[in-house]
Amino acid sequence: MRDEHELQISVHDRRAVDAFAREFRIDPYRLRRFRHALYQQSLDPPAALLEIPLPHRKAFAACMRFHELELQRRSDSPDSRATKLVFTTRGGNWIETVLIRGSSGRLTACLSSQAGCAVGCRFCATGEMGLLANLSASEIIAQLWQANRLLSENRERIRNVVFMGMGEPLHNSRSVAAAVDELLSTTGFQITSRRLTVSTIGIPARMREFARRFPDVHLAVSLHCVVPGVREMLIPGSTRTSLSELHAAIDEVVLTSRRAVMIEYVMIDGLTDTAEAARALVEFLGRLPVFVNLIPFNPVAGMQPWRTSSREICHEFCQMLRSAGYKARIRNSHGGEIRAACGQLANRSDATPLEA
Ligand code: SF4
Repeated sequence: MRDEHELQISVHDRRAVDAFAREFRIDPYRLRRFRHALYQQSLDPPAALLEIPLPHRKAFAACMRFHELELQRRSDSPDSRATKLVFTTRGGNWIETVLIRGSSGRLTACLSSQAGCAVGCRFCATGEMGLLANLSASEIIAQLWQANRLLSENRERIRNVVFMGMGEPLHNSRSVAAAVDELLSTTGFQITSRRLTVSTIGIPARMREFARRFPDVHLAVSLHCVVPGVREMLIPGSTRTSLSELHAAIDEVVLTSRRAVMIEYVMIDGLTDTAEAARALVEFLGRLPVFVNLIPFNPVAGMQPWRTSSREICHEFCQMLRSAGYKARIRNSHGGEIRAACGQLANRSDATPLEA
């Protein structure tokens, strides 16, 4: 027998909800008010449903599925700069979403696009899991919706979104593109495109496609180290693309897009921070107008014995890039204490239920 929720429509599935509203002749204005209550005011479903005209409200509520994800656990870092939300999907997979509070108090949500990941980066706990499932657009949107509902208790709201959580977004590009549409929509979350970033290991055809469809959204490429053999070792799933193909794709994205491409580069002591690695990076970048983010490596228990580069080396590396004419900065890392920093997201160690 089928679960009654399987027969329902996800409230985040805009096409299906619109079709339902047309069939029941629900005033489009009232539907817009409903979405405003849901996504802008972060109201609970019963309060948002008051926007649906009374004669249709009961049927509408009965056909909608509001809870795409179940919150299992919330962890806050001691300095309150990072919050990790662990959810389960209806398919039983555990996924994680991280909220980061910048020094100005501005909040960024780091969303997951997959449960696990097939790329297998050697510095990433998610990569160790392998791929369990692609998330639906509704499951991606639900992460932001649930985060905003929690934050609304303190009258806070997410302003920036990055797809840097679990998964390779461009391995799930259809769901990610549908979710991005909803995040940008003026009747959805109204995230401005310059505050939205999708990060990829660099899949040329999908990068071009994404840049054509979303020329105002930032693309970040996890380049890491381009010393021969090192990138392939760090990112086993990158071997299908040569560095020259990747360079050509970044070049094309720069031309198509109205935003700078960001280059993500992990700083690992003695491996990616050497003089040889610096020279190789500058040679690869050539004349690309990119912004380089240096990310100090975050150790993961039971994985590689690598150490993060020292502060001095990070500064020297950053200075070298600036002297070579690139914009560069060292990214602050938050959430290491709650296993929420870059490379630390995985469901193994957090698969304990939400404490009451
Ligand atoms: S770093 Fe990103 S692409 Fe690499 S394994 Fe982890 S989640 Fe996948």
